[in-house]
Amino acid sequence: MQLVVVLGDQLTLGTGPLEALEREDTVILMAEVGTETTYAWHHKQKLVLVLSAMRHFAEDLRAEGWHVDYVQFTDDGNSHSLDGEVQRAVERHKPERIHVIEAAEWRVQQMLLGWEGLTGVPVSIYEDQRFICSHATFNGWAENRKQWTMEFFYREMRKQTGLLLDAGGEPVGGRWNFDTENRKPAQKDLFTPKSRRFEPDDTTKAVMELVADRFGGNPGSLEQFGYAVTREDAEAARDSFIDELLPRFGDYQDAMLTGEPTLYHSVLSAYINIGLLDPLDVCKRAEAAYEAGDVPLNCAEGFIRQILGWREYVRGVYWQQMPDYRDRNALEANGTLPWFYWDGRTDMHCMAEALGQTLNDAYAHHIQRLMITGNFALIAGIEPQQVHEWYLAIYIDAFEWVELPNTLGMSQFGDGGLLGSKPYAASANYINKMSDYCSGCRYARGKRHGDDACPFNFLYWDFLARHRNAFSKNTRMKRTYMVWDRFDEAEQKAIRSTAAHYLDALEKEARRNYATHK
Ligand code: FAD
Repeated sequence: MQLVVVLGDQLTLGTGPLEALEREDTVILMAEVGTETTYAWHHKQKLVLVLSAMRHFAEDLRAEGWHVDYVQFTDDGNSHSLDGEVQRAVERHKPERIHVIEAAEWRVQQMLLGWEGLTGVPVSIYEDQRFICSHATFNGWAENRKQWTMEFFYREMRKQTGLLLDAGGEPVGGRWNFDTENRKPAQKDLFTPKSRRFEPDDTTKAVMELVADRFGGNPGSLEQFGYAVTREDAEAARDSFIDELLPRFGDYQDAMLTGEPTLYHSVLSAYINIGLLDPLDVCKRAEAAYEAGDVPLNCAEGFIRQILGWREYVRGVYWQQMPDYRDRNALEANGTLPWFYWDGRTDMHCMAEALGQTLNDAYAHHIQRLMITGNFALIAGIEPQQVHEWYLAIYIDAFEWVELPNTLGMSQFGDGGLLGSKPYAASANYINKMSDYCSGCRYARGKRHGDDACPFNFLYWDFLARHRNAFSKNTRMKRTYMVWDRFDEAEQKAIRSTAAHYLDALEKEARRNYATHK
């Protein structure tokens, strides 16, 4: 008898041990355990997505003739840890060997590595074939480079997969990257077809009840849950994205608009991350839509780059840098994460929009994560580990291997520039250019100091002044420091004093709130 353990983000048929083993001789263990539901203060919808998708996947496996031993959250005897459930399954089934696909997260991989010692049963750990770039390929690429750059990694991945290459192996359209065509601001009347939502079925409703009952105090609302929890629905979401939204994905990739949480984004990340969709297959379909003449090149290339480039790249960086990566804090930021990240109550309109939709849907698109909530935490000097805990908890697609490099590295500059050569810090100028948020805000976007000045302005300049030693020699930031140096002394003092007062009040309020709420 062989025991296969399928983790909650490994919901893919026909891969790893499911490809290698015979059904008659195999039991598949899937377990809903407390340690996985509490390692972060997960948004309620994220819990529903994973638990409901696991239950549906178990049914898919049974339909394919597999014997599944499924431990539900409330089952008697549930030990509520992965280690405990593997031990109990070993006692029940007495397997010759345990089989499992490597974990995506470092924390879980350490558990897998301990199972042989824990149970006395040999363990085979399979490579996760769902990633397009293997650990060996990434390490080989990284080893020979002094500086890592996503763009060069991405070109290698284009060559490896042949995506968007012409017959001579050159990039179609003559360029690898069409980002210069992808920065259009949102127009107020921008028409956006809505992303596909799915009505909860009985399985999902049962999980929603469980989550309301056991995790009612977790952040986020539950009522609007509309994510796909089956392969079929995830594929339907993928197809409608490619048909309706991909043709304008690139153009408005960086745009933000009040009341439009998803714009032309795909909302596919969670499905890819838990295994309902295959990343390479999604890229190939985007390429096919371009080849059929349905999608312009800048949109297809921009979308493929996010998955083939960024997604694979951050995974490679994560595994190269863990476990110390999690503790890095290059800018020595030590502020407390404001409580409004958890309840959305702030009078900065851009933050209220990004946070409100996050609490409602467990979703914000990349620019909202990077240039609104991430930018604020960066320039306010919040400790990156607290920012990481928030992102890991709050988003439907948040798993540490992808969330941590994006948050600690790209967004908070906690890794000192490994993931981005310059901090993603911006003032109200940028936000106003890329969104309609500022027009509905009580703060003055044009003011740099004083009570009604936009906090993004004084915090931005204060951040740059605070970290002058770290950034002033960065060639990409020289011009910004020249602007700061042109402000007269009184202006600089007023900016820094407004920032100091604001940050002091923010810190006091955050500490008060954590003392009462958590
Ligand atoms: P689209 O804009 O439609 O992009 C298409 C796909 O590309 C996504 O579905 C995703 O699979 C991939 N992708 C795009 N950008 C990235 C990126 N930077 N890194 C990895 N994959 C990317 N993504 C997660 O999957 N999980 C996270 O926990 C996560 N945390 C983030 C935290 C911060 C601070 C930032 C700045 C970004 C984070 N991202 C994360 C990356 C990105 O924001 C999301 O993948 C994207 O917003 C998901 O929405 P979408 O599916 O509509 O993406």
